[in-house]
Amino acid sequence: MHSQDIRNFSIIAHIDHGKTTLTDQLLRKTNTITERNMTERVMDSNPIEKERGITIKLAPVRMLYQDHELNLIDTPGHVDFGYEVSRSLAACEGALLVVDATQGIQAQTLSNYEKARALGLKILPVINKIDLPAADPDQVGLDLIEEFGIDEGDIIRVSAKTGINIEGLLQAIIEKIPTPVGKDTDPLQVLVFTSLYHQHKGVIAYVRVVSGTLRKEKLHSMGTGSEFVPIELGTFAPEMTPVGELHAGEVGYIASGLKDVRLLRVGDTVTTPNSGAVQLPGYKEPQPMVYMEFYPIDGDDFSLLVDAMGKLALHDAALQYQSTHSHALGNGLRVGFLGILHAAIVQERLEREFDISLIATSPSVLYKISLITGKEIEIHTPTEYPDPAQIKEIREPVVLATIFTPKDYLGAVMRLCEAHRATLDGMNDHGKRVKVSYLLPLSELIVNFHDELKSVSSGFASLEYEVFDYQPVDAVKLDVLVHFEKVEALSQIVVREAAEGIGRRLV
Ligand code: GDP
Ligand code: MG
Repeated sequence: MHSQDIRNFSIIAHIDHGKTTLTDQLLRKTNTITERNMTERVMDSNPIEKERGITIKLAPVRMLYQDHELNLIDTPGHVDFGYEVSRSLAACEGALLVVDATQGIQAQTLSNYEKARALGLKILPVINKIDLPAADPDQVGLDLIEEFGIDEGDIIRVSAKTGINIEGLLQAIIEKIPTPVGKDTDPLQVLVFTSLYHQHKGVIAYVRVVSGTLRKEKLHSMGTGSEFVPIELGTFAPEMTPVGELHAGEVGYIASGLKDVRLLRVGDTVTTPNSGAVQLPGYKEPQPMVYMEFYPIDGDDFSLLVDAMGKLALHDAALQYQSTHSHALGNGLRVGFLGILHAAIVQERLEREFDISLIATSPSVLYKISLITGKEIEIHTPTEYPDPAQIKEIREPVVLATIFTPKDYLGAVMRLCEAHRATLDGMNDHGKRVKVSYLLPLSELIVNFHDELKSVSSGFASLEYEVFDYQPVDAVKLDVLVHFEKVEALSQIVVREAAEGIGRRLV
């Protein structure tokens, strides 16, 4: 396929605005998947993803439509996976910004828009769910124009569910999303936008060829330094389909034969040795935000737990873990996660798929502590908390949280933030809504903040966050005594002024 006939795009949306439904509908209309083998929600393949209605693993798909190759690169729909989203977007020239015609612009609409814009993508605004009686596409259209300064003529109204105007949308994708610019003859630059582990083919990287021609020859990854000769190259049609070469502009996969998913990571650049190619921008190592300890209820299950975690980590480069020991609970694992959803999913899989009953400590963030000796330490869980007499300063991670709320709920949202030690960073008017940003301690966010935000705003306020900084905090360790004995796994690190209240609630 010539690059002028290729369109690479993502769908970005606030949760529940219809990304999965629209994807299914595009697959139907392009006959990529026949009605007969169309299972609902093709893209959400993991059972937990299906139940929760979120996509975690990205599954790209190639569609053929009117002599064009349309590569849809799906993005994970949760704040825990912001980096993965940004790398998927970097693999595209355009994005469909899907907005629910009954809900209008929400927090993730804004943050996804900003990410896509920052990467220079052409944005096609799609107003979805126009079949619903409560739909107000005219108002949502005006909001989109006002908020993002987009052209009225670019707005496409569809119903992903009933199929209204999906052909119009496909036409717009071909007409308005730019063609890839890289040349086949340039040095090879291949962007890895996700990677997973396959029992026989080793690490499989999902890739976008940015420039050059990808062949089954010796390859080199610039971020991790891995070298390998691919055992297979292919495209997503939508099953993995082997091909001989992948050209500039194309999306496909490399089966690397590598045995560890950490050797070929999201955001990495693959090239040929000594190609002289420049590393693509944006590569980052995964950074855990939340830590938990897992202990098997039956101590004999510890080796099962280690084995199970090893299997999950094989597929998940962001999962970090190491052995730990608690006096009361025996051997366990300390695990680092990208966020609480990531943690919940891992815990659920351990219990369900591997049938291990667990005791999990409450999620904790990484504290940085300066000791009076001048030494700097990092603590992941309350068990590592040093002797308080040795502490000079404790610093905690703070996030920049962006909340989008209808004006009616602004007061309640602000009171909630203040109750969680947040400091106001900025406020902007957006028609009937307000965007407020706060510096919010991550430890406050991971407890119950999101649910509380939904509850004080009748479900209308939405939240996005990114790591901001470490800031000093007056925190103490709260120990819990059971029958006059300290149970380490129940300890928490809390702010001093809240310690007494929390202690009483536990009793
Ligand atoms: P996602 O979270 O963005 O992937 O959203 P989903 O595709 O899972 O859709 C969320 C809900 O909205 C589901 O119950 C869908 O059936 C429903 N939905 C999606 N698109 C439409 C539409 O065009 N019309 C109607 N009536 N419902 C829709
Ligand atoms: Mg979805």
